[in-house]
Amino acid sequence: MLPISKKRVGQCLRCGECCKLPNVCPFLRYNEDNTPRCTIYRIRPIACRKYPRTAREHITKDNCGFSFDESHLKK
Ligand code: SF4
Repeated sequence: MLPISKKRVGQCLRCGECCKLPNVCPFLRYNEDNTPRCTIYRIRPIACRKYPRTAREHITKDNCGFSFDESHLKK
């Protein structure tokens, strides 16, 4: 199984944006306050558990609480 990059920092903010990739997940629901909720959270697929695994696959940067430390590239 592919590992999560050691450069990943931050935490999930439960925005639900990655639950819409590439289409809206059929297990995605919304609470009364409109916050997203995964109805299979305890048994969710490994891809969901690991997202975002690398900077390259991180396509929800605008909302996501995770980021990747790329300071080594700025030198
Ligand atoms: S896009 Fe990021 S913050 Fe939003 S639910 Fe997915 S992992 Fe969590």
